[in-house]
Amino acid sequence: MLKGKTALVTGSTSGIGLGIAKALAAQGANIVLNGFGDVDTPKAEVSALGAKVAYHGADMSQPQQIEDMMRYAEKEFGRVDILVNNAGIQHVARVENFSPERWDAVIAINLSSAFHASRLALPAMQAAGWGRIINVASVHGLVASAEKAAYVAAKHGIVGLTKVIALENATSGVTCNAICPGWVLTPLVQKQVDAKAVAMGLSNEEAKKQLLQEKEPSMQFTTPEELGALAVFFCSSAANNVRGAAWNMDGGWAAQ
Ligand code: NAD
Repeated sequence: MLKGKTALVTGSTSGIGLGIAKALAAQGANIVLNGFGDVDTPKAEVSALGAKVAYHGADMSQPQQIEDMMRYAEKEFGRVDILVNNAGIQHVARVENFSPERWDAVIAINLSSAFHASRLALPAMQAAGWGRIINVASVHGLVASAEKAAYVAAKHGIVGLTKVIALENATSGVTCNAICPGWVLTPLVQKQVDAKAVAMGLSNEEAKKQLLQEKEPSMQFTTPEELGALAVFFCSSAANNVRGAAWNMDGGWAAQ
C-alpha cells in the first residue's frame, strides 16, 4: 500500500516509534529512523521487512538538528511523505517540585519538535498533493494525571497542533491526526512500573497490574503493533477524510 512512499518516524529506535516504523515498512514504505541507543537492531528489524532504511540521530530538542534530519531524509529518499512525530520523554513530579530544566526538555521533545518537523515537512507534501502527519500524543492529550504537568501540557498541545495542521490543509491530500495511547509497556512506562514497585514494595507483575487498575478499564496494555496498525489506517485512502482526529487507543481510559 505504501510502496514508493517515505516515512520518517522520530524516536523510532524503541517502543511505539519502532512498532509504527515496522508497520509502515511492512506496507512497503522506505523508513527514516531516529532516536538514541542501539541503532543496529532496529535498523535490522525494519530492513528485514524489505524496506529501505536510513537513520539520523537528531536530538529532537534541537531545532537545528531537526532541520539537518529533514534535509538528510530528502537527500536519501527525495521527499518525506509520512511524518510520525513520536519522540517523547516523561518526568514525574508535583508542579512545586518540577525542575524548570525538565519542564523545558519535555516541552521541547514532546511538543516543539513536532512543530519543527511538521513545518519543514509540509511544503513538499503540499507540492505533492499527498501527505500524512501522525502525531503520537497520548490519552494525556485528552485527560490529565497528577504529577505529569509538562507531559500533559505537551500532549494537550500536540492535540491542538494536530487540529491546526489538519485545518490548514483540509482541502488538500495532506492529513494530520493524533494517536492517543493509554499504557503501552515500553521502556518509558517500565520506568514508572519500577518506581511503583519500589514505592509500594510490589513485584514487577503486581506493579503492572496496579498501574492498569488505576486507569485502564480493559486491564490490558496497548501494544506497539496495534498502534502501528492504526498508523497504517491513517495512511490509507479509507482515512482520506479523517482530519484533526485525536484517536484514543486506551482500553477505555478516557471513557470514564
Ligand atoms: P520509549 O522510551 O520506548 O521510546 C522513546 C523514543 O524516543 C526512543 O527511540 C528514544 O531514543 C527517543 N528519544 C527520546 N528522547 C529523544 C530526543 N531528544 N531526540 C530524539 N529521540 C529521542 O517510549 P515510548 O513509550 O515508545 O514513547 C513514544 C511516544 O509515545 C512518546 O511520545 C510517548 O509520550 C508516547 N506515549 C507512550 C505511552 C506509553 O504508555 N508508553 C502512552 C502514550 C503515549
